[in-house]
Amino acid sequence: MLRPISFVVLVCFCLGGMCSCRQAAPRLAPGEAAGGIKVVVVTGGHEFEHDPFFAVFDGFEDVAYVEAAQKDHSEIFEDIDDWPFDVIVLYNMTQNISPQRQENFRRLLDRGVGLLALHHSLAAYPDWDEYRNIIGGKYYTKTTQKDGQTIPMSEFQHDLDMTIHVEDTQHPITIGMSDFFLHDEAYSGYWYDQKGNHLILSTNTAENDQTIGWIRKYGKARVCYLQLGHDSQAYQNGNFRWLVRQAVRWCAKQLPETETIDTGQLLKLPGL
Ligand SMILES: [Zn+2]
Repeated sequence: MLRPISFVVLVCFCLGGMCSCRQAAPRLAPGEAAGGIKVVVVTGGHEFEHDPFFAVFDGFEDVAYVEAAQKDHSEIFEDIDDWPFDVIVLYNMTQNISPQRQENFRRLLDRGVGLLALHHSLAAYPDWDEYRNIIGGKYYTKTTQKDGQTIPMSEFQHDLDMTIHVEDTQHPITIGMSDFFLHDEAYSGYWYDQKGNHLILSTNTAENDQTIGWIRKYGKARVCYLQLGHDSQAYQNGNFRWLVRQAVRWCAKQLPETETIDTGQLLKLPGL
């Protein structure tokens, strides 16, 4: 049984009133992820219900994860030597990322490390233009001038009963699913890459843009964005858990050949 482990990110040496900090990259303990998918979950920059959120990942028997809570917005990407993870899950809304960290982030994707971006990570790294091309969307946290146009701030609305429509019923992330309701947060007025994204989930909830979940490629990486997941009402929903689990597996290129869904029906997963 794989188990999540805790880790220490920050080691501080304080001398004479001066503090110099060195960040050790998060590590899975030896043997923790043997045969499983190794995942780092990046958090920071936005409040969330910590334990209920990670209970989602605790339920994935083929996944071993560590949380990388960012104290300096993006230190996970400072040093990627000996990078151990198959998939990066972004659940952060941190803002700053240096050119070196940007380059390291892109190098990981060029190597084929998968990327699953969740919910408010659509609003992370607002001043890094390439980030929108990586995840295929952008939530505008401020009025923005682009290509001679003024783009207004995106908007959010909490506590809505949303209707989620499965656009692609054959993709491994959504296969076996039917349309469902979820009490969650709506986003609207964000940029969506019509050309590069393949839409897998949509909604007709008026307060939300039509797009809810999509996949794309970046470098050698499989990238998935799921807008759902504001709080425990989403975390505890079986559809949300299924989506996150299948997305992690798909991003890692480690899908099982068959899957049993709640009805007991055995599905053969298309090998994408
Ligand atoms: Zn939220």
